[in-house]
Amino acid sequence: MINVYLGLGSNLAEPSVQISRALRALAKIKDTSVVSCSSLYASLPMGPKDQANYVNAVVHLHTNLSPLDLLAATQAIELEQGRERKNERWGPRTLDIDILLYGNEMINNDELVVPHYGMNVREFVLYPLLEIDPELCLPGGKMLADIAKDCPVNGLSILSPAPTF
Ligand code: ATP
Ligand code: MG
Ligand code: MG
Repeated sequence: MINVYLGLGSNLAEPSVQISRALRALAKIKDTSVVSCSSLYASLPMGPKDQANYVNAVVHLHTNLSPLDLLAATQAIELEQGRERKNERWGPRTLDIDILLYGNEMINNDELVVPHYGMNVREFVLYPLLEIDPELCLPGGKMLADIAKDCPVNGLSILSPAPTF
């Protein structure tokens, strides 16, 4: 079993409900189980500012799926929950699921870059991840806690406890 961490985000169509629903869908992926989920966090939008604030969470999975099979499964969940990809980068969305970490693997191909390229500077990823695994060491050897220390909180706040799954 590989330890995987996912970053979830939503700012459309009842974001907290979208995250809870995604968590239940993740728990049904084959050869995969949900280990834990962070609290739900409220965050400011990245990129275009003329959009609603986000709800974010980080989910810890155990999986036997390959990275690309897991990506296909998470993208299918995004689509089931109405994700539309438009030309605008970082525009509003019902659900985003990003693969943050896949064990200690470093992956870099056309479809997948892991560790996720933005995770070290995104407060809405680092702090929920720190909540569920404060001792985490990233591929390359840096401690998550040290990376988070250098990342401003930028208005991030806890919205509600982890959803049940
Ligand atoms: P960002 O990646 O900056 O958070 P985004 O999540 O809005 O932006 P998406 O539209 O969800 O971007 O994804 C665009 C593409 O990114 C996907 O089609 C996927 O192939 C690719 N991708 C690369 N690395 C990852 C990853 N670690 N997790 C999820 N998708 C990834
Ligand atoms: Mg994303
Ligand atoms: Mg994404």
